[in-house]
Amino acid sequence: MEITRRGFLSMTGAIGSGIALSGLGINLSPVKAYADELSKMNRVKAAKQVTTVCCYCSVGCGLVCSVDKLTSKIFNIEGDADHPINEGSLCAKGAGFFDLTEANKHRLKKVLYRAPMSDKWEEKEWPWALERIARLVKDTREAGFVKTNAKGEVVNRCENIGHLGSSNVDNEECWLMSIKARALGMIYIDHQARV
Ligand code: SF4
Repeated sequence: MEITRRGFLSMTGAIGSGIALSGLGINLSPVKAYADELSKMNRVKAAKQVTTVCCYCSVGCGLVCSVDKLTSKIFNIEGDADHPINEGSLCAKGAGFFDLTEANKHRLKKVLYRAPMSDKWEEKEWPWALERIARLVKDTREAGFVKTNAKGEVVNRCENIGHLGSSNVDNEECWLMSIKARALGMIYIDHQARV
């Protein structure tokens, strides 16, 4: 639940009412959520605030990272209300920025591979994965490379491989990836940000 600073006082009142209602057997989970948010807000107030810019698209929204002064770890990232572009708002991608930090225990750290027709994922090392990707790209490209079109004009196209960019790729990585894809002659190139 997102709570604005403006709603802080009305929320405090809601918590007081909620505690009184608990004795009547009323569901207090929304009140607990408010309480959690309040303790997070207190942490945010005591934290070192560092501003940065979202790397995901050319809008360039401003972010505020709250860094715990004792552990030097980021524990919250939100839109920067003082930033002239986004004025505190973020799209879904920017709003999920915190999940990219080490605080997210579910982040993938190893390559996961599922063999053709298998229903199981296997952990692999990067050298193995890169070797396999390179092998498949080379073989597939050579099997379907189109040197000339129907009029006999030179086109040098790789029509049998498509490239789809990830939502967790930033502007600079996108630029490098699109150069690589075009260098291989790929023409079916797309990215999550366009969709
Ligand atoms: S990806 Fe979203 S939050 Fe990031 S700069 Fe673009 S619009 Fe802003």
